Amino acid sequence: MSAPAAAEWVLTVTGPSRFVVVCLACGSRSEPGCEGSVALVDWALSHTAAAPDHHEYRMEASQPWRVVRFGPRNRRGGNCRR
Ligand SMILES: [Zn+2]
Repeated sequence: MSAPAAAEWVLTVTGPSRFVVVCLACGSRSEPGCEGSVALVDWALSHTAAAPDHHEYRMEASQPWRVVRFGPRNRRGGNCRR
């Protein structure tokens, strides 16, 4: 039995994008938030206020995806455009 061709599969986005801020000095992570969230900015400002030598951060994004078979019961296809 051969594997199905890649064209038979589509990617669907199953949830919203979430962002966390990560301190590059110690690896502490904020709670997840939405893009542009004031809570993420406040977390970084508070973290630096508590540890002044921790002043570089990285924002990480995640988004749940699912690959499903493209067939008669799923003709809608991917929904990467939101
Ligand atoms: Zn830190």
